[in-house]
Amino acid sequence: MKELVVISGKGGTGKTSLTASFAALAPNAAFADGDVDAADLHLLLAPAVRRREEFRSGHAAVLRADDCVGCGRCAALCRFEAIAPATRPGDGARVFAVDPGACEGCGVCVWNCPVRAIDFPERVCGEWFVSATRFGSLVHARLHPGAENSGKLVSLVREQAREIAKQERRDLVIVDGPPGTGCPVIAALTGASGVLVVTEPTVSGAHDLARVLELTGHFKIPTAVCINKWDLNPEQADGIEAAARAAGATPVGRVRYDKAATRAQRLGQTVVEAGPDSLADEIRAVWKNWIGTVAP
Ligand code: SF4
Ligand code: SF4
Repeated sequence: MKELVVISGKGGTGKTSLTASFAALAPNAAFADGDVDAADLHLLLAPAVRRREEFRSGHAAVLRADDCVGCGRCAALCRFEAIAPATRPGDGARVFAVDPGACEGCGVCVWNCPVRAIDFPERVCGEWFVSATRFGSLVHARLHPGAENSGKLVSLVREQAREIAKQERRDLVIVDGPPGTGCPVIAALTGASGVLVVTEPTVSGAHDLARVLELTGHFKIPTAVCINKWDLNPEQADGIEAAARAAGATPVGRVRYDKAATRAQRLGQTVVEAGPDSLADEIRAVWKNWIGTVAP
């Protein structure tokens, strides 16, 4: 089974729109939305949720006010200033309370409370889902606002998608990866069969692409490059393709700027469904060329 990941140097390059079209073109695939910090593949694939699970990562201090004797030791030790004085409802006693948004889960207060009044449960950071779509199964997730560890959630989403692909005898997993070069991207790339970097013909697009290609080169993953909206700056597009080749990546096609792509998004469709055919053909060519660069 092959696993193909679509990434970009930054958000807003059309990565998800292209990934959704690839989902429509792949005959026997399962899908994963690995862009867990800004998941939106579901907007185009209209998933019907079949399974929903909590995503837990790290721990959080939960202070039991009824057992607290108000010594203040925990607040004095917390380096993140996450514990403050409070009044106990009922008897009005001076106790302490944890701000869950400020708690970093280090555990110092838990181990130092003289009366063991602080619990330390796993932190629920979001949810992940297995859904049915018109193209096949999709694993996607939602991180709670402010929650961290999205790299761990990306790995989980990929792992679940591979598991489902195995169960359903799919020969391919297509992952909509996160943008950038941080931990979530590394989590999306590691062990992938091939990567497509979607970029735009701008100075910042060229700069971001160079950083991403360093990363994929480091992990020795076969890397293809697609320039979206190439006709906005054909010279820059030429330069980006030359730089991609020099970095060992393979340019696999260009997709022109067309308002039809936005119209398709508004309709909740992929471009290959909504058309026009000429634009859909450009995406088909990118897909075919990309698949051709990945070892069987
Ligand atoms: S260390 Fe324990 S008893 Fe003391 S204030 Fe904190 S929670 Fe209350
Ligand atoms: S677990 Fe660490 S960060 Fe959280 S409240 Fe306790 S001491 Fe502060």
